[in-house]
Amino acid sequence: MSRDPRYDILFEPVKIGPVVARNRFYQVPHCNGMGARHPSGTAVMRGIKAEGGWAVICTEETEIHPTSDISPYPEGWNWDDHDIPALARMTEAVHAHGSLAGIELCHGGGHTPNLYSREVPLAPSHALNQMIYPVQARAMDKTDIADLRRWHRQAALRAKQAGFDIVYVYAGHDLSIFQHFISRRHNHRTDEYGGSLENRVRLFREAIEDTKDAVGDTCAVAVRLAVDELMGPDGITSDGEGHDIVALLAELPDLWDVCLSDWSNDSQTSRFSQEGFQEEYTSFVKSLTTKPVVGVGRFTSPDTMVSQIRRGVLDMIGAARPSIADPFLPKKIEEGRIDDIRECIGCNICVSGDSTTVPMRCTQNPTVGEEWRKDWHPEKIAVKRSDEKVLVVGGGPAGLECARALGQRGYHVTLAEAGRSLGGRVSHEASLAGLSAWARVRDYRTGQLVKMPNVEVFLESELTAEHVLEFGFEHVVIATGARWRGDGVGRTHRTAVQGLDALPVFTPDDWFSGRLDATALPQGPLVIFDDDQFYLAGVLAETVKQPGRRVILATPGADVSAYTHHTLEQSRIQRRLLDIGVEIHPHRALAGAGQNELHLACTYTAARHDVECAALLCVTSRLPNEALYRSLMERRLDWRAAGISTVTSIGDAQAPSTIAAAVYSGHRYARELDEPKSNDAVSFKRELPRIEAL
Ligand code: ADP
Ligand code: SF4
Repeated sequence: MSRDPRYDILFEPVKIGPVVARNRFYQVPHCNGMGARHPSGTAVMRGIKAEGGWAVICTEETEIHPTSDISPYPEGWNWDDHDIPALARMTEAVHAHGSLAGIELCHGGGHTPNLYSREVPLAPSHALNQMIYPVQARAMDKTDIADLRRWHRQAALRAKQAGFDIVYVYAGHDLSIFQHFISRRHNHRTDEYGGSLENRVRLFREAIEDTKDAVGDTCAVAVRLAVDELMGPDGITSDGEGHDIVALLAELPDLWDVCLSDWSNDSQTSRFSQEGFQEEYTSFVKSLTTKPVVGVGRFTSPDTMVSQIRRGVLDMIGAARPSIADPFLPKKIEEGRIDDIRECIGCNICVSGDSTTVPMRCTQNPTVGEEWRKDWHPEKIAVKRSDEKVLVVGGGPAGLECARALGQRGYHVTLAEAGRSLGGRVSHEASLAGLSAWARVRDYRTGQLVKMPNVEVFLESELTAEHVLEFGFEHVVIATGARWRGDGVGRTHRTAVQGLDALPVFTPDDWFSGRLDATALPQGPLVIFDDDQFYLAGVLAETVKQPGRRVILATPGADVSAYTHHTLEQSRIQRRLLDIGVEIHPHRALAGAGQNELHLACTYTAARHDVECAALLCVTSRLPNEALYRSLMERRLDWRAAGISTVTSIGDAQAPSTIAAAVYSGHRYARELDEPKSNDAVSFKRELPRIEAL
């Protein structure tokens, strides 16, 4: 297949100062949960994106000095010369595929608690740490400012030595000292670095000039600037100081990478924003500079990308998440394989790798984070080792990915699904308010399966152990998913809650099956009890809430949808629920029920708080649908006669978890089938610390 000429413009080279990007695809800096702790993992992940056609590949935030130590979060290190080999590993991986390597030098100022280095944090003015750490930054004096400029310059020189082509001066996400100097909120100084905008921008300008002076002969100097903080007049706004900063510095950097601040605004989930959502804030930039402009907006559609370029919004298509979900996105556009693009669903599971400090994972791309340690490539997979046939039971995310990856290996696969359509929980959840993009998990996989002559799909085929034994496939994979329980068992209640039978009790499955729907809801308040504490209870509350219907969300958590702090959504979710009138009762456990009444109890004091309740919707925990698996295991003695050699459960049928975990589980099964089994306890490579001399 060849490229659609409409997309030719995306493959034009772009000059960035002294270097040239081979096309307009630009992987902007992004965290990955690996950073300096897993340098080979980071390097191989970045190199694969270069292979996939991104012309520029950037690091995550890379700390320039021990006073900028953001541990426990795993970012890059460029503290001294010892860090150069790890950085060079990344540039070599990127250069091997003809792409440019960019480094986001970062000093976090008062944002970094310096927990590992134990240095006193630095800031324009005395300031409490922006996270929850009981640490204050001290106001910098002139010596500190001179030191900071020297550290930044030295870090730029080390970056050049490590082979980087683009060196950033970073003022974004409310976690860069240069942004803190620019910000009236953070900078209360009365010297030449405070007061007027010109004064507040002074240090940023000096850092750009220093960097150009140090490395600008061979490296492009890029800036990353937050042009809007989405906090109105208290912050930088794109029609106020954001605009004026770009006007002041217009031609100074070699490239403008413009974004929103803080990270939760920049990386909004699909529940709260559409593709291209940053345009209204960033589109002014090109009118003020002749230098190339990069911006993001969860771009996955080549038509949208072309439109951004043609309408003069951006020069280069920036992407973090779309490049994680599909490292080969540019190559697929280039080769005219648009249907093969694995579009980001905007769920921010990848982000949670950073805050939980483990290699990032992705709902759509099960290979991310595994490129080096498991040698998993997002597009390549070993060919089958035998002609054995595989039956996959269940067409949810686990079964679909398992069938797809087995099909890609060349196995003959039969996928049997009980329902009338594929997708399992993904199809259900994508029908809820704001989650329609999640259907891409299903659609990418069904789109691939129809192209595979070696994979057959049977719908409306609810299989029993008898059926499976009759068919006689060598390998049977049980991907039958899970169901929500209605007895209250979850995190807080470890045994069934007694006394709920005075009320109609529903689970999310009742909503998905239509047993509970907007019209069938009993009159009176619906209480949603959320002990799952991820997104589902909150999104059900939003879906069910109608004018005139009382919806009460009670949770043992302090916040609604507490785990969504890790996906950067929590404050948006809570604000939305409050805006639409959902009543929120935090710190509450279940204590029983009466007529039209639910008994709740304070999780600290056990004090009773009764609420009016016509029906209870329990979102607590799930049980695997393991009946088929169990009955096949009980009939192990019949396998040989049926020709079965293995029966394996995967995904939620094994243990309910995230959609990302189900996709990973299906993918892992497919990768490991017929491969030599290792006796090692650890199934992946680890990058162990170098043992220094005592
Ligand atoms: P996962 O997240 O692990 O993929 P899901 O619950 O999303 O799990 O998907 C499970 C799928 O398996 C559902 O579409 C369900 O209809 C299907 N399924 C469950 N039991 C059977 C069965 N006995 N035979 C065929 N399909 C089944
Ligand atoms: Fe996109 Fe979700 Fe993957 Fe992140 S985890 S890249 S948001 S699909």
